[in-house]
Amino acid sequence: MLTWENLFGHAATKAYLKKNIVEEKFPHAVIFSGEEGVGKRLAAEICAAALLCENPIDGNPCGVCESCHLVSARSHPDFYIVEAEETKTSRNIKIGQIRNMQSEAALRPINSDRRVIIIDGAELMNKAAANCLLKTIEEPPSQTIFILLTASRASLLMTIRSRCRTINFDKLSNEQIRDALTAQGVEEQEAQRLAIIADGSFGRALKLKDSGGAQLREAALDTLEKISRKEFSNEDIFKAGAEMSDWSREKFAEFLTHLQKILRDICFLEVSEPHNFDLAPRLSQIKISERKIFLMIEAGAEFHKRLNSNANLRLLVEAYLMQIRKIHRSG
Ligand SMILES: [Zn+2]
Repeated sequence: MLTWENLFGHAATKAYLKKNIVEEKFPHAVIFSGEEGVGKRLAAEICAAALLCENPIDGNPCGVCESCHLVSARSHPDFYIVEAEETKTSRNIKIGQIRNMQSEAALRPINSDRRVIIIDGAELMNKAAANCLLKTIEEPPSQTIFILLTASRASLLMTIRSRCRTINFDKLSNEQIRDALTAQGVEEQEAQRLAIIADGSFGRALKLKDSGGAQLREAALDTLEKISRKEFSNEDIFKAGAEMSDWSREKFAEFLTHLQKILRDICFLEVSEPHNFDLAPRLSQIKISERKIFLMIEAGAEFHKRLNSNANLRLLVEAYLMQIRKIHRSG
């Protein structure tokens, strides 16, 4: 259901958006900025529903009018979503998709007196697509509202950023995620564990729940344990490469994120409580020098960036694992 009650946390942001809807002051171009899975997409869809609703109630879509039904079913003629297309080798938004959106936006709204366009993953627009969008945002079709969602605002064109109002979506607290999960019937202890791993993202927590919990984190920890014990052979690397090449790029990105967090945890284990505090006993067994940990984190960040390029995933996985093993073995 598209209602503000279903968006966890973000109290101030919600209040602000509702106020803008009620006062008919919703910006014509806005960026929702925040990590994957914190609720940007849901918030954007609720905004769209409320903006197109025939009888909005205090900034909330009524949920019963024809318009609300059409938005929920993603078939409202004045509601348009652009999302990244994921292939085996890339994940991006292409200029053709932006052009298709523009030809829609050039028409008069059909059911409502305005049109709402969501661009999910705006940082995944390639340069041509971004420039194409810029032209539309500079001279927006009247009555059209653009909501750009991004986990990496800094990667958007400066000219796009400067023409949009930015609304930040902070990470959720562990407690908020835990409570949201228990509200969905997840058992308390499991909810607590998933909340830790999800690190501020309710969407990630839900994914973890559906994929059977903590397997990716376990895989990341297992990899590091093997590397630190020098048990990681070329064969292991090729095996991992073959297995992970079937993953989506998003899944490998999650794996990398876990590995990066575990590395940080190991580094600061003696001075602060680790993020993955339930893993503390195992983390304390991993011996890697601080200098090497920093190099590994740097390498991880670099590979994370390369994930959005056209690089072959299998080669990328293998190169990454070889790189961190090399750092560990270096003098
Ligand atoms: Zn309605």
